[in-house]
Order: sequence, then C-alpha cells, then structure tokens
Amino acid sequence: MKKSRGKIFFFSGPSGVGKGTLIGMLHETHPEWKFPPSCTTRDPRPGEIDGETYYFISQDEFLEKIEQDAFLEWAEVHHENWYGTLKKPLLDPIECGEIVIREFDVQGFSAAREKLNRSDFVSIFLKPSGGVGELAHRIRDRAPISDRDLALRMESMKAEFAQAKLYDYEISVEDGNFEKMKSDAEKIIFSELKK
Ligand code: 5GP
Repeated sequence: MKKSRGKIFFFSGPSGVGKGTLIGMLHETHPEWKFPPSCTTRDPRPGEIDGETYYFISQDEFLEKIEQDAFLEWAEVHHENWYGTLKKPLLDPIECGEIVIREFDVQGFSAAREKLNRSDFVSIFLKPSGGVGELAHRIRDRAPISDRDLALRMESMKAEFAQAKLYDYEISVEDGNFEKMKSDAEKIIFSELKK
C-alpha cells in the first residue's frame, strides 16, 4: 500500500515571540519528526554543529545552489551573510510520509509559500498575547536600545503582525508560558494529521 504524503508545519511570527524555543521543545519531544536546518555562509559559532544548527557552506557553494534553483527562498541578512532554505530537506521527507517542522520569519514564509503545493503545508502564526507593546518591553529588557531603534523595531513588528491573517492558524503566546505554546502547537499538528 502506498504510504500517505507527509506535511510541513511552518511556525512564524515576530522576532522574540519564541519560535526557536518552540522548535527546540518539539524536537526534544518528537525526535522522529524532521527539523531541517537552513544553509548559511556565516562561520559556525562555538557549539554550533554543521547539519544541525545550519548547513555551513561557502559563498561559492551558495551561488551554485542559487543557480541550481535548489532554494525555496534565500536572503542576504544584515548585508553580511547569506541564508537560505533548501528545497530537498523539506520536500523529500514529505514524499515519504514524514512530518517536517520549520520556523520562518514572516518574509521568509511569504517567499517560500509561493513555491509549494498548498496541500503540502500548514502555517501557524505565533502572536504575543500582549501585542507589540509586550514585545517592545522584552526587547528593552534584553539589551540597551535607543528610542529611535526601538521605534523602528516596533514599526517592523506591526507590519509582521499585519501578516497574521495569511496563516492557517494563530497561537496566542502568553509571556513565558512555553508549555502552553507547545501544547497548542501539538493540538494543531495532531488534528491536521487526522484529516
Ligand atoms: P544567525 O546568524 O543569528 O543564526 O541568524 C541571523 C538571521 O538569519 C536571523 O534573523 C534568521 O531569521 C535569519 N535566517 C536564518 N535562516 C534563514 C533562512 O533560511 N532564510 C532566511 N531568509 N533567513 C534566515
């Protein structure tokens, strides 16, 4: 009997909402799911592992992959390094009926969704329950930031919030309540898999 097709679950939302934390928790609980990393041209930081944190590749290799149309999306971040999502580690597992989990910032998701079959993915937006104001507090608490830079960050966060309507689901994330965020995410994943 042919195995049914798998699915990709994309988690997105403004920076600081807890995407990375959620992915880490899901990875720990469900090691059988696939968590493909991105490619980057930046150097590994201490403790980072090639093929786990990122695929660390040279600029030449990155350019080659662009030419081969191997990326779902890619971007130059902070005018410094290139980052990209390879198609193969996302799409091969779903051909084999597997579950793929992936985080994206809002821009990365907008680019990637254009290139995928609509039935192959489910998209989930993580929204801080306290809105932009709560995120601004968190950013200010984390490190010193000028009023001007904070205002710029808030503008881009507002633009990201406006994208929430493009997603299939929204999870309201209470500050620090990561267990609830995780169980809300699992509920969505398991209900989608039953369809
Ligand atoms: P870092 O170098 O600190 O790991 O990541 C820097 C930035 O690169 C983050 O803002 C992250 O969202 C972005 N980034 C990581 N992977 C990708 C990717 O596959 N595509 C895009 N467009 N950005 C990425």
